[in-house]
Amino acid sequence: MELKGKGVFGGIAIGRISVYQKRDNVIKRKRVEDAEAEIQRFHDATEGAKKQLQDLYEKALKEVGENGAMLFESHQLMLEDLDYVESIENIIRTETVNAEYAVARTGDNFAEMFAAMTDNEYMQARAADIKDVSNRVISVLQGGGGSGFAATEPSILLADDLAPSETVQLDKSLVLSFVTRHGSTNSHTSILARTMNIPALITVDFPDDADGKMGIVDGYDGILIIDPTEEQLAAYRERQEKDREKERLLQELKGKENVTLDGTKINIYANIGGVKDVADVQKNDAGGIGLFRSEFVYLDSDDFPTEEAQFKAYRTVAENMAGKKVIIRTLDLGADKKVDYFDLGNEENPALGYRAIRICLDRVDIFKTQLRAILRASAFGKISVMFPMIISVDEVRRIKEILEEVKQELQSQDLPFDKDIEIGIMIETPASVFMSEELAEEVDFFSIGTNDLTQYTLAIDRQNPRLDNINDPHHPAILRAIEMTVKNGHKGGAWVGICGELGADTTLTETFLRMGVDELSVSPSRVLAVRDAVRKVDLSK
Ligand code: PEP
Ligand code: MG
Repeated sequence: MELKGKGVFGGIAIGRISVYQKRDNVIKRKRVEDAEAEIQRFHDATEGAKKQLQDLYEKALKEVGENGAMLFESHQLMLEDLDYVESIENIIRTETVNAEYAVARTGDNFAEMFAAMTDNEYMQARAADIKDVSNRVISVLQGGGGSGFAATEPSILLADDLAPSETVQLDKSLVLSFVTRHGSTNSHTSILARTMNIPALITVDFPDDADGKMGIVDGYDGILIIDPTEEQLAAYRERQEKDREKERLLQELKGKENVTLDGTKINIYANIGGVKDVADVQKNDAGGIGLFRSEFVYLDSDDFPTEEAQFKAYRTVAENMAGKKVIIRTLDLGADKKVDYFDLGNEENPALGYRAIRICLDRVDIFKTQLRAILRASAFGKISVMFPMIISVDEVRRIKEILEEVKQELQSQDLPFDKDIEIGIMIETPASVFMSEELAEEVDFFSIGTNDLTQYTLAIDRQNPRLDNINDPHHPAILRAIEMTVKNGHKGGAWVGICGELGADTTLTETFLRMGVDELSVSPSRVLAVRDAVRKVDLSK
């Protein structure tokens, strides 16, 4: 069976298909015959959940230490709380209903009760924990482990859609390709596929019974083949081999300079989402990290990551990059990037809503914790800090005040940090483009986030696949915005890079070089292809 979709990253994948099982967020109330047997089912699930929590506790203890691990211990204790257990048993018994429903209702009731304790901040904060732990029990009751991806061998992952919080939980070494029914070219799953250098398709209407069958993904032509014939398998294996040959040729560019035929140089850095991506950065010989999407450290965590946990992540990246530049972007949560432990509320227009720097300037406590971690890590390598979603000079001044306060704090505690840490902002809103002349006076560098800049300039939701056909990052308005930003940045003494996906588009490499762009930060897998493009340009012509 051959299905058509849209390829968002090229390449061929051949392997077994594994369909991602979404957790059902809407829990249905169902009558059961035997309430006592249902109570037993609940107890068995609780034991399963406790075992998962114990495993997580041990893993966290090794990776982030006692403080980070304690959360999982407290979740285990919640599952032993008599009030909680009795409430669930009582609902099952008196209403003769399913355990999932009883757990969900008790979880909601307790969370509401905790949230109402306005004079006790500690208990208020437990509202998210009780929900989290209840969801874990429900997930065990529904037959799932921690993740909805049950593959045991490297497989082609088929899903309705994947939220960033789901992709961070995946065992990436088992994913050969992403294929989704929904999703868009600039969704984070697509970006992840580019980082991992694996083919990805969107808008493929695959049948539910594809699970376990053989499959071929053709990321170039946007095709998914289920149950391929021997001929198809042979043809695609040959194409895969050709790709590998091309890849081998690019590998020969390792160690070479990013220089045009007439001698103009440019920096090519890589984008990462966490410590695990650094190996790919090095394998592809990037000159630095131009965008560390730090929110993935938050998405990969069951609670706000502590200063210590963040410090360790940032320090590890800085140390591994051994003196090469590492630009850490501060928290960019909101819109599609949500975490369970931080209730961002429902918004009419989340992309235009409470996100990124807006959250940080509102929740200065969270912001300061992150800035402390970044500054402390700056003593171990060459770190720059960058702020997302900027719209005004006032915002930047306020950020600089807060950064100064944090520096003072660290100084008074005798904690080492880079006093001259380079600071930059993302240019990803039209307002920041128009204000770029003034903004350049305030910072050391700009990094143009073309993914959001395209969305906001063209007024096209980057998550909406129905608009993919008009979502054109080559639109002259975007190219003019980039040109204006580079010109104004340089006028004010700031260097200017591009870290959005457009930076990796080799059909524009020459245009960017002519505009005077100083740096391109791309998915690790695209570094050598962009180097290849740079080396073929002759600006003297
Ligand atoms: C961008 O908007 O171009 C960008 C790099 O940030 P993100 O994709 O993480 O929003
Ligand atoms: Mg962005």
